[in-house]
Amino acid sequence: SEKEAAIAAAAAPPPADAPTIFDKIINKEIPANIVYEDDKRPFSALPDLQRVLAFRDINPQAPTHILIIPKVRDGLTGLSKAEERHIDILGRLLYTANVIAKQEGLDDGFRIVINDGPNGCQSVYHIHVHLLGGRQMNWPPG
Ligand code: C5P
Repeated sequence: SEKEAAIAAAAAPPPADAPTIFDKIINKEIPANIVYEDDKRPFSALPDLQRVLAFRDINPQAPTHILIIPKVRDGLTGLSKAEERHIDILGRLLYTANVIAKQEGLDDGFRIVINDGPNGCQSVYHIHVHLLGGRQMNWPPG
């Protein structure tokens, strides 16, 4: 089933330095439907480690399903690897999720998800915030 496939895909966390499919999206080696990107701007004060990229999930679980990721992973394969140096990028990922929610017109609310590790059904080991909206969400999640 789809559920079993998701659990199987999430079962084995790769080594921390292993590249992921998101590197190819960041480098524009594979196409993605990008909805937001912090670019290097001449007068931007935003450090490289705080720049984020957001794109539509290829397997959407809601009318709006967007992933927000750091452009530089810096060891942050998942939230469970967070260290103090990551506080700024973690804040920016959430902040940007709300900017995009506004952009997408999710005025009646939305859901933010960060899957972590096998039990969290994480499948890509480059931290990402899921922004889901455009329909009524359920609780508890599956
Ligand atoms: O939280 P988790 O690691 O399971 O989420 C990974 C997400 O990345 C999935 O929702 C999957 O559909 C998405 N994905 C994507 N584009 C890819 C590969 C995966 O949007 N090329």
